[in-house]
Amino acid sequence: MSLTDDRIVNQLLPVERDWREDALCPQTDPDAFFPDKGGSSRPAKQICGRCSVRSACLSYALENGIREGIWGGLSPSERRQYAADNGIDIPEPVWLPDRIAAAAQDASDQRLAG
Ligand code: SF4
Repeated sequence: MSLTDDRIVNQLLPVERDWREDALCPQTDPDAFFPDKGGSSRPAKQICGRCSVRSACLSYALENGIREGIWGGLSPSERRQYAADNGIDIPEPVWLPDRIAAAAQDASDQRLAG
């Protein structure tokens, strides 16, 4: 198959759309999804209730062990309860600074090796 043929096939294949492209929250106040202690999560949950990607969002939060904020319409404690009720193991969270540190270390190692 020629390069041209590959391009035609690729254009015809359905492209998987990332659920985040359809998320409602970026169009609203992001702070509402991370209420202060004692603050109301109701405004965020109302937005989630109208969001078409709620299920994918909740799955993402559970699969990635996200412990903060409203995801898929559920608070952290509600997500823990949901996971317990449905036999879902929530992985240990990987904190962003650790990810950044690991990526920086990898880049440094590659520079030293190369
Ligand atoms: S369900 Fe997820 S993606 Fe949708 S508005 Fe709520 S937090 Fe955002």
